[in-house]
Amino acid sequence: MSEDFYEVLGVSRDADEDDIKSAFRKKAAKYHPDVSDEPDAEEKFKQVKKAKEVLSDEEKRSAYDRMGHERFEQAEKRGGFDGGAGGAGGFGGGFGGGSGGMGGMNDIFEQFFGGGRSQRNGPRQGQNLRTSMTITLQDAHDGLQRQFTLTRPEACDDCGGKGYPEDADAETCPQCDGRGQTTHVQQTPLGRIQQTQTCNHCGGEGTLYSETCDTCHGDGRVRREATLSVDVPAGIRDGQTLRMDGEGAPGEKGGPNGDLLIDIQIEPHPDFERDGDDLYYRHPISFPQAVFGDKVEIETLEGSVTMDIPKGTQSGETFRLKGKGMPRLRRRSKGSMFVQVQVVTPEKLNKEQKKALKEFAEAGGEEVEVSEGFFEKLKNSF
Ligand SMILES: [Zn+2]
Ligand SMILES: [Zn+2]
Repeated sequence: MSEDFYEVLGVSRDADEDDIKSAFRKKAAKYHPDVSDEPDAEEKFKQVKKAKEVLSDEEKRSAYDRMGHERFEQAEKRGGFDGGAGGAGGFGGGFGGGSGGMGGMNDIFEQFFGGGRSQRNGPRQGQNLRTSMTITLQDAHDGLQRQFTLTRPEACDDCGGKGYPEDADAETCPQCDGRGQTTHVQQTPLGRIQQTQTCNHCGGEGTLYSETCDTCHGDGRVRREATLSVDVPAGIRDGQTLRMDGEGAPGEKGGPNGDLLIDIQIEPHPDFERDGDDLYYRHPISFPQAVFGDKVEIETLEGSVTMDIPKGTQSGETFRLKGKGMPRLRRRSKGSMFVQVQVVTPEKLNKEQKKALKEFAEAGGEEVEVSEGFFEKLKNSF
């Protein structure tokens, strides 16, 4: 029953958004229970939907790639992936937190059996951190590895992240008897209401220590500047987010670190406009080039290439240079570059050019009056 999501959709592991969408459309059309004659179409359709849901969500997909099918499904059953950034900790790899989905179920079990997420003493995943990075279009085309620094919370070295020195005396919190929670019973007109709160005496730890760490003042974390290096893949788009696993805030009580999310911004390029994986570029040509045709040098992001201007090209005509656009993310192919040529009307002509052009017009049966120094005269009259 549990089949690899990539196989369910029939796409490769480096399939991009578009591949996944179109694979989903095909499979959905095949297995949709309303139209399909296939046996167990309904079950297949569910699998296809599930696979698409996971693979088209960047965060879920990267978790899926990292964990593999089985662990992913287990983690999802345990807590759901709905928790989002900074969720409280799942054990051993799930992003916990899930308030939706199966989360409600877990809470009920925890009330019966104790333990798990609602107990403050357990390991908790650190928060996800977020930063942004600006790159050029050339960088986005080539892909790059960039070093950067950021100030982030890290586990305090002096106490190993515990918040108290190794030799501190520990005693069970008398207020909550080590449970980390206190329960108050209130009489109301509706009956007895039982409220459970985090113990404010021990902060939910259940234990009191005779000393706190001088370096982190009991927090277990200190802010520190870290130098990291990130691989920005070729073909990345403006507004996409990269994830660096485990580079977020430190986990607590042995929980895993959070992740670092990097929002990519791409500076506009002076010459090229990008639309998806395609680039757009304007190139000026002269009237004779348009008439007779020519070979012109066109700048691309991978150096200049020669492009044929055919005879009789009109101003505004667009030519396509296949494979000279942006690389497609996680694929080997590239988009196209579209070159729109603009025939430039000369503004200053010398005598000979004027004469030639007049003759050109007359040869075609046109009557043109070329007054010598017309513009100069115009200027002088003001
Ligand atoms: Zn307490
Ligand atoms: Zn410390």
